[in-house]
Amino acid sequence: MKRRQFIKGIAAASAGLILPISYAKQNADVIVIGAGLAGLSAAYNLKMAGLNVQLLEGDDRIGGRVKTLSHIATNPEAGGMQIGQGYGYMRALAQQLNVPLAPLSGFMRGNTFAINHQLISAQAWPSHVQNKLNAEEKKLLPSQLYFHYLKKFPKLTIANDWTLPKYAHLDRSMQSLLTELGASEQALALINANVNANNLAELSGADAVHVLTQMMSGGGGADRVVNGNSKFINAMAAQLSPVELNKSVTQIKTTNTGVQVNCKDGSSYSAKHCICTIPFSVLRHIDIQANINAVQRAAIKQLNYTAITQVHFEVSDDSWLEDGLPANMWSNGDLGRIFASKGDNGSVQHLVSWINGDAAKKLDTLSKQNAMAHIHKALIKQRPSLTNKIKPVYLQSWGNNPFSQGAYSSFAPNQVQQFAGKMGESAGNLHFAGEHTNHDYNGMESALVSGLNAASQVIQKA
Ligand SMILES: Cc1cc2nc3c(=O)[nH]c(=O)nc-3n(C[C@H](O)[C@H](O)[C@H](O)COP(=O)(O)OP(=O)(O)OC[C@H]3O[C@@H](n4cnc5c(N)ncnc54)[C@H](O)[C@@H]3O)c2cc1C
Repeated sequence: MKRRQFIKGIAAASAGLILPISYAKQNADVIVIGAGLAGLSAAYNLKMAGLNVQLLEGDDRIGGRVKTLSHIATNPEAGGMQIGQGYGYMRALAQQLNVPLAPLSGFMRGNTFAINHQLISAQAWPSHVQNKLNAEEKKLLPSQLYFHYLKKFPKLTIANDWTLPKYAHLDRSMQSLLTELGASEQALALINANVNANNLAELSGADAVHVLTQMMSGGGGADRVVNGNSKFINAMAAQLSPVELNKSVTQIKTTNTGVQVNCKDGSSYSAKHCICTIPFSVLRHIDIQANINAVQRAAIKQLNYTAITQVHFEVSDDSWLEDGLPANMWSNGDLGRIFASKGDNGSVQHLVSWINGDAAKKLDTLSKQNAMAHIHKALIKQRPSLTNKIKPVYLQSWGNNPFSQGAYSSFAPNQVQQFAGKMGESAGNLHFAGEHTNHDYNGMESALVSGLNAASQVIQKA
């Protein structure tokens, strides 16, 4: 693609992009660390602008927190799944790269509830003996409680409003905010069981409102890449020079001439610029010798990351559904939530036990084999019709993954006011990108836009 076409292509997403007239002719003009969405987006945009890029990846695969399990029936995603309707940049890139998207399909609706180890249908819940919710909450299903309360929070109109001082009163723990809104003790405990954070006490209300606003933006219905989101990763990587795998970066230092990056295997790279997309949960263990501002240093050290662990199961046939309950389950115990998906043959072929936060951290203390066996046993005990119908085939722990150490960043109380907007600032020629550095969007879109923005900064300076 010609440079002019490239600018046209991304103009909508990147206002103020200025391209240099000439570039330093080095082996690599820019080192990009991390071949997840942010790193691939940065490298792709730099390359399109005519710069030479060295992409270093610590793991033995590309994609980071996007990972399609193509060896399992239904090609489930272990990481980033839903491409929201508001994901303008991701959708534009998918079109540019000829990567087809399709509405999410195959997922089952409804839940069977496993509360205090008792299986309860949605119909039975409002009057069930296990239901100790208050009068306002009584008719709500356990899975509806969180959104019931979140909807009482102020509605945001501007994407990053939640980071402004006027919302400082929301930068407190969800535990205390929900208590003030009248949530009962049982509601708090049930919400805590599957909240998209380590726990309610560790989650800032401002962050929770932001996530809800983003989920609602662009209208309902999410998409996924046909045959899995890793196809998107592969299509981006195919545009680039081969990514150097197993290059675990241990030190980054700015020098008089640019940036030097040292890896665990003893190799060393230097270039005029570097874009680092390493999650802060990992970056805090890396030696950074650069003029990083004090707030950013504190964020690198303290930003919260949510643990998520999944156990994936293959399902032999549908006879277990003869117990008459919905395939999906929602528990307040070790199983977390069970999501069922159908294959092309129309029957359920895949289940995943999706465990968030503190429960995931607990499971992560076991070996992979023991963790899979533990969840397998607990699932069969809870749903006896699954006996001999399921086989655990894969465990994904994002908390135990040395290159992510958590599934996504989330702000703890007071961290929004302290850190937001300051985590992506450059330190000389060392630039930062990654989902955690962009607060206008969520997840995959954040990562891609952050890579584009960091590339734009480099292009302006190169
Ligand atoms: C379970 C789960 C579900 C999700 N669901 C959704 C969803 O439905 N929709 C959505 O939009 N988003 C979702 N997300 C979030 C989304 O996947 C991430 O926000 C996004 O992929 C992050 O991209 P990134 O490039 O910022 O980080 P990463 O993908 O983590 O990329 C960072 C890269 O840096 C590499 N790296 C780390 N340390 C080093 C080192 N020392 N040296 C060299 N390389 C290193 C890593 O291996 C990785 O490849 C989900 C994530 C998870 C885990």
